[in-house]
Amino acid sequence: MKDLYRLLPEEMESLVIELGQPRYRADQILYSLYYKFPEKISEIKQLPAKFRDALSDEGFTIGSTKEIQRIKSKDGETTKLLLNLRDETPIESVLMQYPSKKLFGHPRSTICVSTQVGCAMGCVFCATGQMGFERNMKAEEIVGQVIHFAKILLEKGQHITNIVFMGMGEPLANYSETIRAVKLLTHPRGFGIGQRNITISTIGIISGIDKLAEENLQIGLAISLHAPNDKLRNWLVPTAGSSSVKDLINAGKRFFLKTGRRVTFEYALIEGINDSPEIATDLASLLKDNGSHVNLIPLNPTTSDFSRPRRRNVLEFERILYNSGVNCTVRVEKGTEISAACGQLRTDVMGKSNNKRKKIKK
Ligand code: SF4
Repeated sequence: MKDLYRLLPEEMESLVIELGQPRYRADQILYSLYYKFPEKISEIKQLPAKFRDALSDEGFTIGSTKEIQRIKSKDGETTKLLLNLRDETPIESVLMQYPSKKLFGHPRSTICVSTQVGCAMGCVFCATGQMGFERNMKAEEIVGQVIHFAKILLEKGQHITNIVFMGMGEPLANYSETIRAVKLLTHPRGFGIGQRNITISTIGIISGIDKLAEENLQIGLAISLHAPNDKLRNWLVPTAGSSSVKDLINAGKRFFLKTGRRVTFEYALIEGINDSPEIATDLASLLKDNGSHVNLIPLNPTTSDFSRPRRRNVLEFERILYNSGVNCTVRVEKGTEISAACGQLRTDVMGKSNNKRKKIKK
């Protein structure tokens, strides 16, 4: 089966021409895919019936995600979905809504997408990391998560304003499919969201960061640091390997110099592990004067043994960074009560021990 959502506009044009149709058929298909969200080729009514049949005969299909669970936070601002991919592999996606004026001055609807089923990076505090790695997701499966939420929002007269690649998996370990998804989502004849409204978050694959800087994209980059020294970081991120904290900071600088896009360093604050004033001071001396931004993320409680720090420790950590001249914010907590950290819902539903192989049938 070949998913029409995989094709970039130029590829869609080649396809319709190959099938003996005029070029404008490509735009009819693209318009339908990204504005009408059909579930079957037979629903693209602008196309002649014969051409719809020809597409199906060629093995093309549409979309691949089926919703198996939807949970909403009490305030209604966070929605988490467990979606089945075509092969019945469950994955997670999250919608976080920020009403106007509350935070940014205008309403935002941010989708957090997954790029892999499970993750090989094995971060000790992360539910996805504890699942192990199952497979890379295809670009159309990444785009499918966005389309699924776009359809939900359309029914309420709303639309997606931002997309973050921060769900299950390490996007830069699935590089080519991640970049294809970004191109499909930002192409003016595709989903059409602005490049600046997309952020890719990486645990720190340096070769991937350097490659990304060369893509000529205006997307944002977030690097998950989590520790100011190699010993602590290598424990929290066991696959960090030979990449040192300094190497990561330098990769962030190179990305900024090449793209002009500010880099955010993400820092999951974990009680008693990396939240002390001494560690904050070390982090501040590493990052001051380099113009980057630190996003402090009090850990969402997961099935692991790690805990969220006390509020006063978070504020003290922030104060130390701020007083040292490091630009930083504490992430607004969204959906804590609905297992919003990546991999938590799948783990809650499937059980930790069954997480690796079990599929969910609707
Ligand atoms: S934090 Fe990200 S990179 Fe680390 S295991 Fe979880 S999903 Fe993978």
